[in-house]
Amino acid sequence: MKNIYLIDVTNRDGVQTSRILLSKLAKTMINLYLDEMGIYQSEIGFPTLMHEVNYINANLALAKKGVFKNTRLEGWCRAVPEDIELTFKNCPDIRHLNISISTSDIMIEGKFQGRKTWKDVLQSMVKALKVAKDHGAETVGVNAEDASRTETAKLIEFALAARENGADRFRYCDTLGGDDPITIYQKIKKIAEAIQFPLEMHCHNDLGMAEAVSLAGAQGAIESGVACYINTTINGYGERAGNCDLVSIILALTYSHGFEDKVHLGDRVDLKQSWKIARYASYAFDIPIPIKQVGVGANAFAHESGIHADGALKDRRNYELYDPEEVGRGVPELLQTGRMITTGEYGGLKGFRHVYDDLGIHFHNDREARKILELVQYANLHTQKPLTDDELRFIAEHPAEVSKILTVSTRYK
Ligand SMILES: [Zn+2]
Repeated sequence: MKNIYLIDVTNRDGVQTSRILLSKLAKTMINLYLDEMGIYQSEIGFPTLMHEVNYINANLALAKKGVFKNTRLEGWCRAVPEDIELTFKNCPDIRHLNISISTSDIMIEGKFQGRKTWKDVLQSMVKALKVAKDHGAETVGVNAEDASRTETAKLIEFALAARENGADRFRYCDTLGGDDPITIYQKIKKIAEAIQFPLEMHCHNDLGMAEAVSLAGAQGAIESGVACYINTTINGYGERAGNCDLVSIILALTYSHGFEDKVHLGDRVDLKQSWKIARYASYAFDIPIPIKQVGVGANAFAHESGIHADGALKDRRNYELYDPEEVGRGVPELLQTGRMITTGEYGGLKGFRHVYDDLGIHFHNDREARKILELVQYANLHTQKPLTDDELRFIAEHPAEVSKILTVSTRYK
């Protein structure tokens, strides 16, 4: 059994996507849900971006308090020394990073326009990596942007330079989503054999194959005896046609005919959290889950046509590869159709206490309640949509961190 680890990049690739966005409170909830789901690492955002700084530092403070049991919190920045310096200036407690630089000729020529050569790219990456390690980074993943359009020999040179200078993983980015399963398998196998160094698959969905190429790449890596990491996003949210979907890849690693019983995702990965995390992300991003979404779509376990319904009724294995319960479905959900008391932006103490009493959270006195109510008002102002029960619980449990998450600082005075 080989190990495959999941690094979810919803809070980086997902949120940087055109026309979709998350509040900092929602990003925090996603980190917490990923932790609950037992995901190895969350790429939580951009430590060089001022509006991310308080959110990142608050999440690192939560990690210090032991709130995250499974998930490492990691920041993303460019593999240039200035970005690393700024990262540690803004977020001194950050311990895990992924640093990124373009490696393909087309991007080196098209983006740097003569300002950087291949040699400069290597040097910048090595220098940035050393600065990160000097600042106390415990793990650094080194990303080759547009790896799928970079010659294999250059990727090997890049990854070996990273390995020699203390990096912990090499991220192969199929930035444009142009890889196919057969090519990527062969390419990754060759790279993995040469570098003998942990590999990360970061694949996009422009040809509708993000999960397939991630899986095929992972196969190449583990066959060559190196540890493999797969980058995912919840519901596949990400640049353009999106990224490798978290729930799909867990299901594929568990149930596909080729992978079943061959890889180990870590005992902590809990597929049962799928429904909850997918639904929350859909709510927070304001994007409905497609009816045919893997595992969590409305039709994922629906049967109507004569032959299918008859077969599923006789034995669900006739037409279902896995059960709804395995992805956390099958429990009826209550919908309040009568009177409802809510709390939020313009809420008062009575309603607030009523809502929290229903959640089983009771305040000793009005003074204590008022403090949390104020945070609830600000949180609702911040998310601009009704707060969920889990958000309300989180606000009451960690008021100091929530206050920080809701605060954005600017350099302008
Ligand atoms: Zn990406």
